[in-house]
Amino acid sequence: MPKYDTVIGLEIHVALLTKSKLFCGCSTTFGGEPNSQCCPICLGLPGALPRLNERAVEYAIKAGLALNCTIHEISRFDRKNYYYPDLPKAYQITQEFYPLCTDGYLEYFYGDSLARTKITRIHLEEEAGKLIHSGASIIDSDYSLVDYNRAGIPLIEIVTAPDIRSPQQARIFLEQLRLLLNYIGVSDTKMEEGSLRCDANISLKPLGSTQLGTRVELKNLNSFRALERALTYEERRQGEILDRGDKVNQESRTWDERRGRTLPMRSKADALDYRFFPEPDLPRLKLRPGWVEEIKSTIPELPMERLSRYEREYGLSRYEATFFVNYPDFGQLCEKLAAMGWEGSRAANLLMGEYARLAREKGHLTPERLAGLLEIIEDGLISSNQTADVLEELFNSNLSAREIVLEKGWQVLADTDELQALIGEVLQGNVELVERYRAGETKLYGFFVGQVMRATEGKADPKIVNDLLRKELGT
Ligand code: ADP
Ligand code: ZN
Ligand code: MG
Repeated sequence: MPKYDTVIGLEIHVALLTKSKLFCGCSTTFGGEPNSQCCPICLGLPGALPRLNERAVEYAIKAGLALNCTIHEISRFDRKNYYYPDLPKAYQITQEFYPLCTDGYLEYFYGDSLARTKITRIHLEEEAGKLIHSGASIIDSDYSLVDYNRAGIPLIEIVTAPDIRSPQQARIFLEQLRLLLNYIGVSDTKMEEGSLRCDANISLKPLGSTQLGTRVELKNLNSFRALERALTYEERRQGEILDRGDKVNQESRTWDERRGRTLPMRSKADALDYRFFPEPDLPRLKLRPGWVEEIKSTIPELPMERLSRYEREYGLSRYEATFFVNYPDFGQLCEKLAAMGWEGSRAANLLMGEYARLAREKGHLTPERLAGLLEIIEDGLISSNQTADVLEELFNSNLSAREIVLEKGWQVLADTDELQALIGEVLQGNVELVERYRAGETKLYGFFVGQVMRATEGKADPKIVNDLLRKELGT
């Protein structure tokens, strides 16, 4: 029995998919020649003044609406002051005191139950530059290079309330948040390129206690797996400290992926004082009347809505519907097949099996070609265990499913007389086994089926074979 409740809150940074930066016209394209996408504004040269990117505000509002937040008509930018080479102005423009969005939530399925995680706030801020160390890490580097292409790219920071209860839930929440952001198109959310980053706060408290414990902030979580592993490690580490009767130190710790453990970075006691104050170079952000409503009307169907529509309209199971929601390209194919009149479960059966593996490798087939395959299965031209072979050919040729089967001579063998004769031969060739079967060794049945299938190169209609075999064997 666990002795503690785990409490987790996440802070997520998301790079917005705007063409230009938050306060200047420089390009946000990833991977350009270092320092080729900079100007006096994002380099913080004296006298340069910021000008707010309207599209970034629109995207932040869109995220806020999709996360059920209150969107504030008036918000404000503040300076967060600190010195570091990746921050050319020596301050970051952010929204500390009056964020654009507050008090939202995200609902998602966690196991079989519906979970709701509160979103405390979403605010806009600018990205810092990128340091490239000459060695493997900052410690064993003789020098570091700095690339300011990234400096000034618009970010939203999404902060959750401390109401996530396990490392697994934290991971699922983040996956669902990412899916939602993809659906509304405000970010490409590539963790490997840093356009989605997550810091995790975790504390333990005695079971049922209402008082939150001392928290640790985890950094350097570069994947969903790292998030879950780091939290799991930290949950155990803190539990052991509390078991000994000691106190957890409030600090930031970094996840060491290679060693599979967290290591201390700095404690809150020597945390920086950011000397926040209102950004004097920007007026308050006041949204024009009606804008939020306009943005609301551009929000597409969100993952949870789609999930229930798939269950309701196509009769899909939760498992199937979830697959199609998580992989919208597959979902779209399912919708197209449904629109052609195919039953949802039939489409799911086809799309989630061998097809999924092949499509991920080679790209999708058209719904028409897939429908052609469903048709010949329905017609009984092939049996369902031949589907994979036909699929393979569909990816490799331009022929339709029907043409492939006819050309290859793969039609199912459904001629009762022919099968009857074949079965006779098989049984005659195995007289001893037939006797043992009749004497009660029923597990031999599969052997007879296998022999018939082999004799027909897998083309025999399994149902007819079964019917005939049972009759012959007298069962
Ligand atoms: P700070 O002012 O240090 O940024 P916040 O109150 O803004 O702290 O919280 C930052 C993040 O830490 C939020 O995601 C919040 O949910 C989480 N958090 C706060 N207290 C705890 C706690 N005791 N245990 C776990 N997470 C916490
Ligand atoms: Zn610039
Ligand atoms: Mg905070």
